[in-house]
Amino acid sequence: MSRSGTTSQAHGQARPRVRDDLADLVPYGAPQLDVPVRLNTNETTYPVPQAVLDDMAEAVRALGLERYPDREATRLREALALHAGHGTEGTWAANGSNEVLQQLLMAFAGPRRSALVVEPTYAMHSLIARATGTRVVARVQPRDLPITADVAAELVGEAGADLTLWCSPNNPTGEASGPETLAAVCRAAPGLVVVDEAYGEFGRSRAAELLPHFPNLVVTRTLSKAFRMAGLRLGYLLADPAVVDGLRLVRLPYHLSSVTQALALRALAHVGELMAHVAVTERERERVAAALARLPGVEVMPSDANFLCFATAVAPRRLWAGLLGRGVLVRDVSGYPTLDRHLRVSIGTRTENDAFLRAIAAELA
Ligand code: PMP
Repeated sequence: MSRSGTTSQAHGQARPRVRDDLADLVPYGAPQLDVPVRLNTNETTYPVPQAVLDDMAEAVRALGLERYPDREATRLREALALHAGHGTEGTWAANGSNEVLQQLLMAFAGPRRSALVVEPTYAMHSLIARATGTRVVARVQPRDLPITADVAAELVGEAGADLTLWCSPNNPTGEASGPETLAAVCRAAPGLVVVDEAYGEFGRSRAAELLPHFPNLVVTRTLSKAFRMAGLRLGYLLADPAVVDGLRLVRLPYHLSSVTQALALRALAHVGELMAHVAVTERERERVAAALARLPGVEVMPSDANFLCFATAVAPRRLWAGLLGRGVLVRDVSGYPTLDRHLRVSIGTRTENDAFLRAIAAELA
């Protein structure tokens, strides 16, 4: 028994017990293993250029850390709004888009409300929903039935959830929803539609263009993926200003540190350099997809993101472990509905992608 358990018993007190509705949950977490090629969490693996790092260091030196940060993160929100082509009042930021999603679910879902997730999708959507006391309405999209506008409208209308979570490009499968599909979702949904566009810079997803037409649409984005700043922890949303007003009710005061605000502002000033890899990454994705498809028994799904989801004829757990043994870490997504034979690999540098291709060719030989 743990020391705390012994102490508790010594005082005759019950052991700490988590909320009943969370008791069957397992913590989210991709393995963080120290191997040469880590392609399991969809960051951009090109290093941040030294000049950008130097500029960021300067910005940190200039901070007055004795004072609380700007609670409204006004300058940062102005810069994000300019970057996204949206109004500042409808632009909001938090520590990663995960925190943005958490704030949205706290303010617009929660106890006695529901959220729709269309599986297979980003596991944190249902986990955050449950953590906020939201009832999860899960629908599984069969792999052989593409989500057209009509299919989406039917699905969303039938679910009737208070909040709809929609991932485009979808993680872990990779496909983006076109504007007709997103518009159909916004029309059919009884409440807010949150389009998670964490990978939006890589493909065809352009949800923000629909914002002027749908006051119930929220688009969430992040600096963690195409922007090369996963370590910074900055996500943001674009929506009607009334959505931002709702988030002010649930966010913690000063939730974005002065350091985060200053570094994110500097990152936005270097957007061209930081995102210069996007075209290269897209080309690499197509190169890796073609090479994978030539391997025996491999089926690759089309992707609008910086990762590929693929099925093989081999047991996914065994293949995952085999690749790890060769120093390449990918994601085993076979636990997701309809993906029982699948792995997911992030697109890294050409050297990393080649290492992955060599390793998987050897494993499947
Ligand atoms: N949405 C999707 C679809 C993701 O894949 C991720 C990261 N894996 C996130 C949101 C969260 O990213 P972050 O909190 O780093 O912005």
